[in-house]
Amino acid sequence: MKINNFLFIIYFQLAISFAADFYGSKPFYQIMETNYTTAWTPAEIDPVNRDYIVILDGSNSSYVSIHENDIFTLTVHNSTALTSGQGTYGDALRSMFQLQDLYIEELGTESLSNRYTLRPVLGSYYAIDANADVNSSTASGLVVRDIKSTYVTDQSIVAYLIFEVIHSGNTTVLKASSRYTFNSTSSEFEIDNSWSSNHWLHINSDNLELTTNESDATDLMLADASDLINILNVPSSEFNAAGIDWQTNTFAAFPTNPNTGEEATGGVETSQLYDQVINQTDTYYHQQFYHSATASQAAADFLDVIETTLLSEGESLRYDKSLYLAIRENMLSRKTVAVDEVNCVIDTPLVAHVYFTNAKDDNGEYHPFMVVATHNGSGGPNFLIDVARPPGDGSSGSYDQQSVTRNAVLAPVLCKIPLKDYGLVNNVTDNDMSPYGSLAEDAGVSQDQYNVYNYAALAANGIAIDGVKIYPAMNNTLVFAQMNAEITSTGIHVGRGMGLHYHADGHAYSGNGINLYNLHDYPGHSHPPIIGFSLDGLALYGRHESSYSNMDGYNVALDEFGSHDHDDYGHHYHAFSETVTNSWQNNEYTFEEHFFLVGAYKGSINNIPGFQESNTAQLVNQELGKYVGASGTYVSVQSHVGIPKDFSLQNNYPNPFNPTTSLRYDLPENSMVNVTIYDMLGRQIKTLVNQDQIAGYKSVVWDATNDYGKPVSAGIYLYQIRVGNYIQTKKMVLLK
Ligand SMILES: [Zn+2]
Ligand SMILES: [Zn+2]
Repeated sequence: MKINNFLFIIYFQLAISFAADFYGSKPFYQIMETNYTTAWTPAEIDPVNRDYIVILDGSNSSYVSIHENDIFTLTVHNSTALTSGQGTYGDALRSMFQLQDLYIEELGTESLSNRYTLRPVLGSYYAIDANADVNSSTASGLVVRDIKSTYVTDQSIVAYLIFEVIHSGNTTVLKASSRYTFNSTSSEFEIDNSWSSNHWLHINSDNLELTTNESDATDLMLADASDLINILNVPSSEFNAAGIDWQTNTFAAFPTNPNTGEEATGGVETSQLYDQVINQTDTYYHQQFYHSATASQAAADFLDVIETTLLSEGESLRYDKSLYLAIRENMLSRKTVAVDEVNCVIDTPLVAHVYFTNAKDDNGEYHPFMVVATHNGSGGPNFLIDVARPPGDGSSGSYDQQSVTRNAVLAPVLCKIPLKDYGLVNNVTDNDMSPYGSLAEDAGVSQDQYNVYNYAALAANGIAIDGVKIYPAMNNTLVFAQMNAEITSTGIHVGRGMGLHYHADGHAYSGNGINLYNLHDYPGHSHPPIIGFSLDGLALYGRHESSYSNMDGYNVALDEFGSHDHDDYGHHYHAFSETVTNSWQNNEYTFEEHFFLVGAYKGSINNIPGFQESNTAQLVNQELGKYVGASGTYVSVQSHVGIPKDFSLQNNYPNPFNPTTSLRYDLPENSMVNVTIYDMLGRQIKTLVNQDQIAGYKSVVWDATNDYGKPVSAGIYLYQIRVGNYIQTKKMVLLK
C-alpha cells in the first residue's frame, strides 16, 4: 500500500536528520545542590522591616541556618564555606532570614512596631519560636513553626517569638521580648502574657539558644543577605520601572482555593490531582500517571501511536517526540523545596502527572494533547511579601482602599499543550480570539490598534516548566506588570484568584542563579534550556546569552512574537528583552522589558478544542472531557469503531495542503474501491486505491506525486471515489 511507502519515507528522514538539544532547566532541588562559587564578605546592616539578613556571631566565624534536612530545626555552621564561595546555593539560602514587622499584614491601620518575626527565606510562612509550651515563661531552645497555614498544620503549638534589634556600643544583640500564640477559637494570634521579656539569642558552639542572662547574649553580626544572593526588587529598577514604593495596604484575607472559593485544605498530597482526577480519567491513561520508568515508557509508546495516527491523516506532531518526553521528565522531577505556598508540603511533586491523549472531534479530526496535571507551585521561595504594588483583592474602592494579595496557595491545574502542528499565523489577528476575549477587547482598544502585546489572553497563555502558569507581559490594564511593580525578582506574583503566575523573565532581571532557569543550565549544551510551553503548542526556551554566543540560533533574529525557526528545532519562542515605552498615571517610562511570552500567539489557535481551559472541571465537560482523558472516552486509535451506515467521501485534510493531505471515506459494506486523483483537465494523475476493501472508516494519504512517483505542480486537483454505482468527486488545492 502507498501509505506504507509514505510512512517509511517520513521515518527515514527523521532518523537521519534529527539533531536538536532538548533539556529542561535545573529543578530547584538541583539548584540547592549546585556549587555557589561567589566569595562573600559579610557587611553589617541595621535592619528594618523586610530586610534579609544572615545572623553571624560577632567574629563572623559561624552563622545560623535551618537544618539541611529539616526546616523546623535550627543549627549553627562554620562560616568558611559561605564566605569563601565553597558552599552550595542551599547553604546560602538556608542561612537567609527575613525580618517581618509584627504589624506587616495590617499596616493600613497600624504603624511599624520595629519588632520582628524571623522568617526563613525557604519558609516565609514559618517563623522562629521558643521550643516551649504555650504559657511557658521561659525556654532555652528554639524551633521553626508554621504560623500561617494554621488550619492545615498538625502542629500542636502555633506560636512565634518577636525580636528586637538592640545596639549598645559596638555590640548588637537580638532580644526575644515577646511571644504570640494562636487562639484557635478566635483564629487570632494573641500575646502570650506568660512569656518573660528577658530572653536573648545566644550562639553556643553549634547550637542556637535563648539565654535569660543578658551578659550571655551573643554579640551578633546581622549581615546584609542581599550581598550574598540578591533577591531584592528595588524601585526604579527594571522590575519597578515606575519607581513605586512598597504599598502599606493590608494583606488580603487568607488564600482560598480558586476552584472552590473555600480556604485551601490539606497539603498537596490530598490534592484533587490524585484521587479525584484519577477517578475521573479513563483507566487506559493511568499507565502514564505519576513519575516512574514504566509510566515514562507508556507515555513514549503512546506518543509513537499519536505520531503514526497523525501521519496516516496527513498531519504531524509540531516537534520531535524527544522534546515532549524531555519536558515531561523535567516537569515530573520537580518537587517542593521551600514553603512559600500555604498548603505545600516539603519534598512533594509539583507536577503530579504529564500524559498524552489522542481524542477525535465530532468531524473525526484528531486533537492530541500533552496534559500537564500540576499544583501550580514554583518549588522555591517566591518573595511575594516584597512586591511593591501587588494586585488588589478586587473589592470595590480605589487601590489604596483594597487589601492586596501577598499569599499563594497551591491549586490543581490541567493544562493542555496541543501536540499537532496547527500551523502559524502571519498577523496577530489571523488568530480568532473572539471566543476567549483578549486584553485589547477587554480594554476597549480598537481593532486597528491590536498588536502583539494587547492581542493577548486575559487568562494564562502558557505553562512554565515548573508547572506554574505564564501570563502575557501586560496586565489587564494594558501596562507591563514589570513596570507597575506587581511582580517579584523572579517574575512571578499572585493574582486575585491567589494563583501564582509569571509575567516576566526573572533570570534576565537578577541573574542570581535561583530563578526558573539560570546561567548554570547552559554549559555543555547547544541551545538554551526549555522553560515552558505556550498554549498554542509552541515551545518556550530561555534567552540567548552573549556568553554562549555559539549556541544554535544565536544569530537568527526573533520576530515580533518572540519566535524564530532554525536548525531542527521547529518554530519556537525564546525569552528575550527589549526596550519598551509604556505609560502609567500620565507618566511615560522607558525600560528594558524581560519577556517570557509577549502575549499574542504565533501558533494558529483557531482549531484547537478547549483552548486556554486549564481547570479540572474539563474532566466532566461533555465536549472537552475526552481531550484530558475523561473516563470512558479512550477509543483505540489504531482502528475506527463500528461500521458506517452510508457511503461517503469526506473533505480532504488539510486543504489547501503541501505536500501531503489525507483523503477519508466511509465504506458501509465490503467492496471493490477505486480512489483516483485527476487534474483540472481530467487527466488521470495517480491511482491511490484499487482493491477490495472490508467495510469501515478508511483513509489514504496523497503525497502530491503522480503514478511515477514524481512531484506534481501546484494547483487544483480532483479526487474521485468509485464503489459500485457510488461515485463522488471533490476538489483540493496543492500550494507550493
Ligand atoms: Zn498577573
Ligand atoms: Zn532558538
